[in-house]
Amino acid sequence: MGTYRTRPVRPQILYPLFADVAQLPGIGPKSARLVEKLAGPRIIDLLWHLPSGIVDRRFAPTIAAAPAGRVATLTVRVDGHVAPPSRRAPYRVRCSDSSGSIDLVFFHANVDWLNQMLPVGATRVVSGRVEQFQGAPQMAHPDRIGSESEFAEIATVEPVYPMTGGLAPKTLGKALAAALERVPRMPEWQDRAWLERQGWPAWHEALATAHHPADEAALSPLCPTRGRLAYDELLANQLALALVRASMRRLPGRSFRGDGSLTARAEAALPFDLTGSQRQAIAEIAGDMDSDTRMLRLLQGDVGSGKTVVALMAMLTVVESGSQAAFLAPTEILARQHLDTIAPLAEAAGVRVGVLTGRDKGKARAALLDDLGSGALSIIVGTHALIQEDVAFHDLGLAVIDEQHRFGVHQRLELSRKGSGAVDVLVMTATPIPRTLSLTAYGDMEVSRLLDKPPGRKPVDTRALPADRIEDVVSAVARKLGLGAKVYWVCPLVEESEHVDLAAATERYEALKRRFGDRVGLVHGRLKAAEKDAVMAAFAGQGVDILVATTVIEVGVDVPAATVMVVEHAERFGLAQLHQLRGRIGRGEAESTCLLLYSPPLGETARARIKTLRESDDGFRIAEEDLRLRGAGEVLGTRQSGLPSFRVADLAVHGELLAAARDDARLILERDPELSGERGEALRALLYLFERDAAVRLLRSG
Ligand code: ADP
Ligand code: MG
Repeated sequence: MGTYRTRPVRPQILYPLFADVAQLPGIGPKSARLVEKLAGPRIIDLLWHLPSGIVDRRFAPTIAAAPAGRVATLTVRVDGHVAPPSRRAPYRVRCSDSSGSIDLVFFHANVDWLNQMLPVGATRVVSGRVEQFQGAPQMAHPDRIGSESEFAEIATVEPVYPMTGGLAPKTLGKALAAALERVPRMPEWQDRAWLERQGWPAWHEALATAHHPADEAALSPLCPTRGRLAYDELLANQLALALVRASMRRLPGRSFRGDGSLTARAEAALPFDLTGSQRQAIAEIAGDMDSDTRMLRLLQGDVGSGKTVVALMAMLTVVESGSQAAFLAPTEILARQHLDTIAPLAEAAGVRVGVLTGRDKGKARAALLDDLGSGALSIIVGTHALIQEDVAFHDLGLAVIDEQHRFGVHQRLELSRKGSGAVDVLVMTATPIPRTLSLTAYGDMEVSRLLDKPPGRKPVDTRALPADRIEDVVSAVARKLGLGAKVYWVCPLVEESEHVDLAAATERYEALKRRFGDRVGLVHGRLKAAEKDAVMAAFAGQGVDILVATTVIEVGVDVPAATVMVVEHAERFGLAQLHQLRGRIGRGEAESTCLLLYSPPLGETARARIKTLRESDDGFRIAEEDLRLRGAGEVLGTRQSGLPSFRVADLAVHGELLAAARDDARLILERDPELSGERGEALRALLYLFERDAAVRLLRSG
């Protein structure tokens, strides 16, 4: 019988917030779908949908004193209705006060409704933007119409929400008001002294106030209400990561102390000197492995910064102490490429390296598994195939995982479970993530960064050209091909539909094929892994010289002969993305060129991006700049990068709060590792509120 672990349940006090929006008054099936599209399916999602602006209706002048262009709330007498003289002209309702008169103007009027709302002789409060038309004031379609007794309700500051077509602001407003009524008073999860120092209100108050901004200042992400809500979210994120980390640490670890014999021989076989960063990263990793807690370290470094050698040194250290190491790559071609780099160096140290991918079958595979099981084979490089059930190690000590975002945390754990004891984990990523962002995604890991590049790398000549110069670009490509160059041609993912994007890439492929024939290849996300690998291999080797690709081109593929990259619609890419793409060229001896084609006119941000790219080759600088230019949510395309997305927090502005939340989370777990004290209980509710349920499960008394 298997063990049955009860899932921790969300506290009852939060139930009302996790109910469907359809439960709110005024929300039928149709508007529920629209609200879902706009904010999400549940009431809590709607509550996180905060106003993006305000309309101030408190200005209540006389008609004569109401300036054109400004929103005003007027108290007027209805003098008469004037039916339109032609079908295209609007319906007019004449109104006045003691200072003058104004026309309320309605196109496509519903006359019955107007007679009911604005009966002749009545006094009405109307609110909307005042305009001047042929020398007279008018107000087209007042936003609000009410009786005198409703003045106080109308003359307020009204929140304006990001909207979606078909959903009436009134419907949304009503639903939100009802949603806010369901917000429970929660036990305070923040430290009281800290709240006081920040001048932050209680959670339910902050939420209510955020939906009723008193002025423009109340929309600022740094104002007390939004600051508080953002901090709550960041604390939930950091606390969840700290819990994962703590649970990893609780698992028994092992100390791997190498004697340096193998690493020294491999280093002597290197055709180059290690860079300062590489040495430092190797030392940091050795320190982790030596300690008897488990290593969970992220090795970050730009494409081409030399991560593979660092990984090799870590693997050899484990082998020195008698254990095995596995190197997990996201694709077949990358696995083989790593093997080509690693095997000669490891063999120089007398260590054999095996490879296991989906392609390895039958007797050879069985023999390999035997060697792994007996410990005869110390290092194995492979793909997902390594995670298969029947792959057993004699004594796995270290798992190196390349290109983290292709794998989930899940797979990271799968591989590390293949050890009989604790397995140290080293994750490598080439995605230059700003420090703030990396904290939210990898807060559970120690980080080593390769900041300096191996010497001798030539900067890529980067140019921006308007799209109508494409013929010049094709001629330039033809010239370069004549000199033996290989060319990446990138077509972006643009439309919502992958279909349309694929069509664009396919069209370009066909066009280039007409000009260059069979030397042109195409890769995109719809291809099967084996098909993709085949095209990539032909590009890395023989047969394909121009590779047309959607943005799926393999992150780590090393094709030194590729010296030209064309990027279409470069204005649609983020900076970091362009930098990563560009990192695939400039790896060999020859000069490399990156041509960014854009559709004019180029906006200010796009211009700034291209300028940064031309000036800098430093992935981390570029990533920080990208964050500044765009805001965190967009930096990498949250979903594909595996980074968490935030509802309220905005890392472009809340970086300092994030750092505070990290320290806070550490302190909290030092004092109350099981979150069992009074504040601990409240913090559990916070984790549920932000749906970090998985983290709660890590607590012993989940
Ligand atoms: P990454 O995986 O970080 O993208 P690689 O490990 O594939 O980078 O290294 C890119 C290239 O740089 C490889 O050909 C590698 O042999 C070379 N290289 C690595 N370290 C150095 C160094 N210190 N000096 C010169 N070349 C290096
Ligand atoms: Mg690599």
